[in-house]
Amino acid sequence: MEDYYEILGVPPDASDEEIKKAFWRLAKKYHPDSPGGDPEKFKKINEAYQVLSDKKKRAMYDQQRKYGFSSVGSFGGFDFGDVFKDFGFIDLDKIFEDFFETKTVKRKEKGNNINVDLELSLKEAAFGTEKTIYIEKFIVCDRCRGSGVETGSGFKVCPTCNGSGQVKETKSFFIGSFSQIKICPLCEGEGKIPEKFCLKCYGRGRVKSNVPINLKIPPGTDEDDLIRFKGEGDAGLKGGPAGDLFLRIKIKKDPVFEKDGINLKTKLKVNVLKIWFGGEIEIPTLEGKIIKYKLKPETKVDEPIVIKNYGFVKGNKRGDLLVFLVPDFPKLPTNIKKLLEDFLNKMES
Ligand SMILES: [Zn+2]
Ligand SMILES: [Zn+2]
Repeated sequence: MEDYYEILGVPPDASDEEIKKAFWRLAKKYHPDSPGGDPEKFKKINEAYQVLSDKKKRAMYDQQRKYGFSSVGSFGGFDFGDVFKDFGFIDLDKIFEDFFETKTVKRKEKGNNINVDLELSLKEAAFGTEKTIYIEKFIVCDRCRGSGVETGSGFKVCPTCNGSGQVKETKSFFIGSFSQIKICPLCEGEGKIPEKFCLKCYGRGRVKSNVPINLKIPPGTDEDDLIRFKGEGDAGLKGGPAGDLFLRIKIKKDPVFEKDGINLKTKLKVNVLKIWFGGEIEIPTLEGKIIKYKLKPETKVDEPIVIKNYGFVKGNKRGDLLVFLVPDFPKLPTNIKKLLEDFLNKMES
């Protein structure tokens, strides 16, 4: 099987727009009707475009490309042989029409913003943290430093617009033809193109990479907070400015503490005899401290004990920790249990 990406001269992670653009460029050049056309080459370009412009076909093709072209077999119930044999002829008018309507991309295009959900523990959200995460994003190509031009290569006058940066396009309707001046799609208005595009980034000035990003999360970060890291999004096209990274914070459920606005709630098992007669209990806090607290005799369990300033964090304020006591019933020696049961019976008679 042919390498369709190579035929169209695009990288394997090319966007739909890039594939379309590459096809348009090559189809115009090799179309049998155009001077210097090449029917064989045109057929191949057409075939490559039909597969790569179809989401389903492209996904299957990518799978096969990854696992080797030699093993033509079935995948998910489809037979590759059949899928890729069926190449109808393409409606070129439709494609050119699309381009007629398409706004041409500015040369130095800004990179996209990236949105990522980041899960934090309750403790990390309250007190802040530093994290390194890996993100798949476009970074500036290190081979050409973002210019898209291969080292040692100069520029030449754009053959499509002869250096004017503009092209005239004519569109035919039933009632007549209309022309419009567009930014040249090959040089994108520059009037010149590199003699040789960078071999690593195919002239885009950026490549996809999985990169570590160090993040400082401030204290008092709340669920669904959006934190912006300027310039940490995708690198721009051909040296354009980078987009931003937006982190949306998600807080993991904590096994001990439950966030309630700025306060924290927790349940604490306490020996019922301590609740009854009083005694010291140990209350764990979110930061990992233990607070010793003296229970008064006959402490009520339907209201929480309030530990001031041990709650969640907001700005420079701190909420309270609300401790709900859960009576724990110790196993009593048989004689004491008998004594208490007799006592209960006497009280009720
Ligand atoms: Zn490059
Ligand atoms: Zn041009």
